[in-house]
Amino acid sequence: IGDSKDFDHEVESICPFCGVGCQVSLKIKGDRVKYVEGINGPANEGRLCVKGRFGFDYIHHDHRLTKPLIRREDAPAKGLNVDPGNWGDVFREASWEEALDLAAGGLAKLKQSHGGASVAGFGSAKCTNEEAYLFQKLIRQGFGHNNVDHCTRLCHASSVAALMENVGSGAVTATFNEIENADVAIVIGANPIENHPVAATYFKQFTKRGGKLIVMDPRGQALKRFASHMLQFRPGADVSMLNAIMHVIVEEGLYDQQYIDAYTENWEAERAHLKGFSPEKMADICGIDAETLRDVARVFAGGKAGMIFWGMGVSQHIHGTDNSRCLISLALMTGHVGRPGTGLHPLRGQNNVQGASDAGLIPMFLPDMQTVVSDEVRSKFADIWARDGGVNEPLDPNKGLTVTEIMDAVHTGDIRGMYVLGENPAMSDPDVAHARDALAKLEHLVVQDIFITETANYADVILPAAAFAEKSGTVTNTNRQVQMGRPAVPPPGEARADWWIEVELAKRLGLGWSYTHPSEVFAEMKLTMKSFDNISWERLENENAVTYPSLSPTDPGQPIVFGDGFPRLDGRARFTPADLIAPDDVPDADYPMILTTGRQLEHWHTGSMTRRSKVLDSVEPEANCSLHPSTLRKLGVAPGGLVRLTTKRGSIEIMAREDRAVAPDMVFLPFAFVEAAANLLTNSAVDPFGKIPEFKFSAVKVENAKDQ
Ligand code: SF4
Repeated sequence: IGDSKDFDHEVESICPFCGVGCQVSLKIKGDRVKYVEGINGPANEGRLCVKGRFGFDYIHHDHRLTKPLIRREDAPAKGLNVDPGNWGDVFREASWEEALDLAAGGLAKLKQSHGGASVAGFGSAKCTNEEAYLFQKLIRQGFGHNNVDHCTRLCHASSVAALMENVGSGAVTATFNEIENADVAIVIGANPIENHPVAATYFKQFTKRGGKLIVMDPRGQALKRFASHMLQFRPGADVSMLNAIMHVIVEEGLYDQQYIDAYTENWEAERAHLKGFSPEKMADICGIDAETLRDVARVFAGGKAGMIFWGMGVSQHIHGTDNSRCLISLALMTGHVGRPGTGLHPLRGQNNVQGASDAGLIPMFLPDMQTVVSDEVRSKFADIWARDGGVNEPLDPNKGLTVTEIMDAVHTGDIRGMYVLGENPAMSDPDVAHARDALAKLEHLVVQDIFITETANYADVILPAAAFAEKSGTVTNTNRQVQMGRPAVPPPGEARADWWIEVELAKRLGLGWSYTHPSEVFAEMKLTMKSFDNISWERLENENAVTYPSLSPTDPGQPIVFGDGFPRLDGRARFTPADLIAPDDVPDADYPMILTTGRQLEHWHTGSMTRRSKVLDSVEPEANCSLHPSTLRKLGVAPGGLVRLTTKRGSIEIMAREDRAVAPDMVFLPFAFVEAAANLLTNSAVDPFGKIPEFKFSAVKVENAKDQ
């Protein structure tokens, strides 16, 4: 990998992994990517992390799907029982014609016999904007409901809920690169060196220039070395810590009254609410001493320009929306929004999770976060979708079901068929045994992917898709930068781009679609998405990236927004006070420790791509968890030995690493490994607003695996 600089030509595109959205040059010889280099994109300025640089060879892996597959009539019962390299006793190869007819026909039959709502769709944040748009359109137009969702439900749905409620927009208010103009920054519930590595390089440089970096995380992390303050607070205690910090800002008069008066509402309610959260009272709850909380309050409020970055440590709780509300309030009261070096930035996970959400791949919103409950919005979309021979069906006025609600509805028999594009709920859902049982129960499951994922194990029809480096399309990164992805190599065998497959299915569902290129889809998206104003396919072809909003056809886009008010009815952002809510599954005598899950630098989400990448998988080849040395000693387990982790949902045995960054009463468990799937253990309780599961907190029993 990357050992030869011998190539025929190069193609500029985007890294397919995290939401940073690094621009890359793919060096091609024949039909193969030989190696990858970073180029001068607005987010990465030539930098790449180990995934972007070395994690490309999954696209040439032997397991790639090259023909459509159909489940054999004599296949064993549906279960997690398919070898992705040797699937012949479960599936047989089929022509595109047969597979598409069966895929669409099975879904149409369910619509006819049980109504459109008996079919749901999971799209993907790894696909392009155009593919996400077509996917939600296919479910909404083809089945007449909004039961369409994707993995934003599992990562930042609560952040988006809080941002929509209080700021009026679900996207970041400033790019992460703006940190170069800040003098203070908070990073909370995120581990950027592992999960947003190129963004982390900007954070480190900021500290080298004298910026004060406040890191808040129940787990220690490498960014601590660069931090002026490291607050290793108790898991789940975010609101107590943040309210205590804001209490000090109010008590000591450190807030920005001018900003509050000009741009916010509900300040008096927030101020009154914070009275009950003195640092002295909250110290025991959050595990951070009062003086440190006071110091952090003074440093952040005293900064001339401050930014707040957060990750899934904030969002993946049943109080994830409250956690984000606190961060928004903290930024508002200090006036750290809308100016250079200020802003709110939830670090988005997947390469196109911002774009897929903007494209309407969520059950409450049509594209550009336009609510499905508005008659005006729905009729605008229905009119546009009826053009050029498209079917003219009224759209459903009810919000649809989310990822976990869809799985519950399979168990109740309300949902009987699913179309899954690029998602892997058999690995990614909380309490995954429940999700796998649901997938096995489906009467008709169509899976579209590049490999036989764990979810594809349960499929009736598998449609072979092109990888990101094999197709055209745009993606939107965490910075609101819409970027052009280009095909560098052809898809293997008969694999086809996701948008093509969607169009073929829609034709068979009688939707009258006639797109012949993603640029036509992009043009249609522009008709209803103001965020794409002044951004055209041609511009992206020429410029590679444009940040939205872009104010003119030559404006590269606005890195900072909301300097002169917010997109809410009265132009004001809102303070929404947050109270303390305990996690759902608290430790007790039987399950005395806390389990938290997350990603590692080398592996990406459910591992379908990175575990098939030679360099990445050889650096991190084995399922592992991390425990404090004192905990391992107590268990009598040497580092590298096996432990058994058991929660109320399930049990796994896994290799244990020694890690001082993990508190003695915690276990950290990465979720990329099917052989010890973290989500067999996680809790499906959800935040009531964002409907995001509490992946970051489960009560767990940890034992030496040798003990019976
Ligand atoms: Fe890819 Fe993210 Fe790494 Fe950039 S930081 S190279 S986008 S994985």
